[in-house]
Amino acid sequence: MGRCRSIVSVLLAAIAVFVVGCSGASTAQPTTYSPDQVAAIQTYAPGVVELRDRFPELGDYVAQQDWVNIRSFIHGPMGELRARLGRVAARLLPQDAQQAQSLAAEIGNHLERLDAAAADFDPAESARQYQLAREDLNAFIALIPQEA
Ligand code: ZN
Repeated sequence: MGRCRSIVSVLLAAIAVFVVGCSGASTAQPTTYSPDQVAAIQTYAPGVVELRDRFPELGDYVAQQDWVNIRSFIHGPMGELRARLGRVAARLLPQDAQQAQSLAAEIGNHLERLDAAAADFDPAESARQYQLAREDLNAFIALIPQEA
C-alpha cells in the first residue's frame, strides 16, 4: 500500500512538471513589438504603402473601363505587391502574421480576378474586385505597427 502511494505521487509530480512545461511554452510568445522589430518592419512597410497610394490610378482605369491599362497596371507596378506584402507579413507577431498572410493571398486573388474581368470586358466584376482588393490592402496596412 505504502509503495503504491509513493509511485502515484511520483507520477503526479511528473505530470505536474510536464503540464508546467507545456503552459510555460505557450505563454512565452510575445504579444507586443520591441522597438527593433518595429524598425525592421518599417524598412519594408513603405514599399507596401507606396503601392496602396497608387491604387487610385488603378481605380481610374476601372472607372474608365480602360481594359488595357487595368491589365498592364496589374502586371506592371502591382506585380511587386505580393512579394512586398510577404516581406512585411513575415515580420509581424504570430497572431497578426497569420491574418496578414491570408489578406495577402486574398489581395492576390482579387487582382487575378480583376485581371480576368478586364480580359472579359466586365465592368461590374472589375469594379467589385478592385474594391475588394482595396479593402483587403487597407486591412493589411492596419496591421503594421507604427514607430512610437
Ligand atoms: Zn477579399
